[in-house]
Amino acid sequence: MDINQKDIEQYLSEVKQAVEEGRYRIDRNARRQDNIGLFLNYVIEVDIMVERERRDFCIECRKETEYILQKKDLVKNIRDKEYTFAITVALCTECGEEMSIPGLIDKNIHEIDEQYRAAEGIVSIDDIERLMKIYKIGKAPLSLALGFGEVTITRYLEGQVPSKEYSDIIKTVLSNPGCMKQKLTENRGKLTDAAYRKAYAAAESIESLFSVSDKMLRVIAYIFEKLEEVTPLMLQKLLYFIQGVHSALYGKPIFEEDCRAWMRGPVYPEVYELFRDFKYNPADDARFALLKGSEGALTDDEKRVIDLVVNTFGMYGGKVLEKITHNEDPWAEARKGYSDSIPSSELLSKERIMKYYIMINQKYGIDLEAGLQTYIHDMLDKVS
Ligand SMILES: [Zn+2]
Repeated sequence: MDINQKDIEQYLSEVKQAVEEGRYRIDRNARRQDNIGLFLNYVIEVDIMVERERRDFCIECRKETEYILQKKDLVKNIRDKEYTFAITVALCTECGEEMSIPGLIDKNIHEIDEQYRAAEGIVSIDDIERLMKIYKIGKAPLSLALGFGEVTITRYLEGQVPSKEYSDIIKTVLSNPGCMKQKLTENRGKLTDAAYRKAYAAAESIESLFSVSDKMLRVIAYIFEKLEEVTPLMLQKLLYFIQGVHSALYGKPIFEEDCRAWMRGPVYPEVYELFRDFKYNPADDARFALLKGSEGALTDDEKRVIDLVVNTFGMYGGKVLEKITHNEDPWAEARKGYSDSIPSSELLSKERIMKYYIMINQKYGIDLEAGLQTYIHDMLDKVS
């Protein structure tokens, strides 16, 4: 690990910011492996830094004192409607009075804005930025494409709260690329040809994401979060093992897609189509911005199964995983009558996969990583 002073300072400031914003967590994300070492060595100092900084001048005490941060309800009338917002206040630990801390007002303005929008179902600034990113379109062209005035989106990005009507349009195109295509076509005359074509192509490419089930997308997003590099071949095999382990442990499949016995093992054709265009790590693809935060929609059981599979099968490359699947009964049965070089697309039914993995569970106890590892070793012994 080659880390210099600058890296450490950069990391500390990131951690500090994350702690302050309450979004701090320790992740096993492979992308951040180096940071684990940094974390272990320096987190204690970060804690001290954050603590040490919780001091400021108290007007009541007329001196610098320590303060604590607390949540407080604030009732506010906006357009004749009463809202209760949770804001953050700093309390002097010596006299108990509220203290004015630099940055706190900005933070509360931001929090009130977010809570107001959430209460009214109005799109957030983050969502508008995300919209521009996934459809590869600038502020002005986006405004025009949606049928708004040219500077409307710019104003929203600066903090103006959209009307419910406009907010709903933004939300719809954010979750529906078909609708975005329609808007682009309607307002094509107002856009430059280049802007139109770029955004239209982006919308088409996002549409392909929606050809697989929501659950499948979330499982894939979670795998990408855990593993830095996943080849399409490896992804296919991991999905198959996840389906198998989940079926065995919980008596039902995790996603609805059907699996096919192709020459190179079990394949989910919709997922294959989805990733054939990716020329680099799909996790870096802007289309995946849509999935940001969506792994939250997986249940704890589902995450547990994915963790089990990623921590065991995920240690091997696609080729090795392919060999394992070739020695499993469901694939071997589905390929009966086909010689090695003949393509096939026989159904590997969810029931057949479940039956096989229930049997494997009885033999190996695959609710634990150790059981899965033993199974993998046995299968690899068979291969060699
Ligand atoms: Zn005080």
